[in-house]
Amino acid sequence: MSPLKTALTLAVASLSATPLSAAAQDTGQLNIICSVQAEWCNMIQTVFARTTGIKVNMSLKGSGEALAQLNAERANPKTDVWFGGTGDPHLQAAEQGLTQEYKSPALPQLHAWAQQQAEQSKYRTVGIYSGPLGFGYNTELIAKKKLPVPKTWADLLNPAFKGEIQVANPASSGTAYTMVATLVQLMGEEKAFDYMKALHRNISQYTRSGTGPIKAAARGETTVSISFVHDGPGEAMQGFPIATVTPTDGTGAEIGSMSLIQGARNPETAKRFYDWALTAAAQEMGAAAKQFQLPSNKAAKVDPRVPDFKKIKFIPYDYAKYGSSTERKRLIARWEKDVNSLPR
Ligand code: PLP
Repeated sequence: MSPLKTALTLAVASLSATPLSAAAQDTGQLNIICSVQAEWCNMIQTVFARTTGIKVNMSLKGSGEALAQLNAERANPKTDVWFGGTGDPHLQAAEQGLTQEYKSPALPQLHAWAQQQAEQSKYRTVGIYSGPLGFGYNTELIAKKKLPVPKTWADLLNPAFKGEIQVANPASSGTAYTMVATLVQLMGEEKAFDYMKALHRNISQYTRSGTGPIKAAARGETTVSISFVHDGPGEAMQGFPIATVTPTDGTGAEIGSMSLIQGARNPETAKRFYDWALTAAAQEMGAAAKQFQLPSNKAAKVDPRVPDFKKIKFIPYDYAKYGSSTERKRLIARWEKDVNSLPR
């Protein structure tokens, strides 16, 4: 069966118990900002629309860009649901009152880290997946250029990597903000900024999207990327020579999140989508769309290609602090001023 057919079968099973009248008072459409990769966004759009008859308008935006759009729409929200993307900007949106409180009946089915994300936001967001930050590298290029496989953050400062590394811009990308927050927690803020200034010399490009760098590494456009490692297997499945590694000195993980928008036009349909997106069946669509995060529903099957969290050294990431509005804005502004403005 094709991944879409499997997803449709799963989705029909998980939706049949939901009353259709729930959507009666809305326009019968749903407007979603989707911050995961296109294939997963398209899958949930198609499956939810086909199984409910509700038209789904989907717009794809990186996590930081999504937050900027929600702020711009604040007086007249055009979005009902923000699906996916790193948890820090979802927490910031919650604090800014951009998202709506909702306690889904599905919450008890979720892992503790996903429920904690909900509690910390006063139920204005929820964890839908988690994934570790690390490095991607092109196995052929690294061998051809006789470069060592980086195993620690310090290894990326090797002058041999000059122009060989890509990472995204933390203003637009939640992945890159996760890197900034991880380094600050791992090294302390001053050392982390010294580190990022030194790393800047080796960076060829700060991309808009967080998944851009690993795609570039897979295609041989850069040798190394700083990326979520759950995006490696999807590129490898397409035949690209890509491998991933997590730094042995410690790394952070994202809690990919979902939020309902305050003042949305279709609040009941949005809740119906939200409850559905928390089911095991809906969450298994991530892997079906070649994105291998750890699902937050405890009953969701964990694909063998999902990174093994037990083998990774994690820092105790302070989601509340680094998802707060002042901290996120301050760190991004400091990165722009102290790092991005430097010559290379
Ligand atoms: N795509 C995948 C598969 C992700 O896991 C994430 C993070 O949640 C993103 C995209 C987010 O991308 P960006 O870093 O551009 O916000």
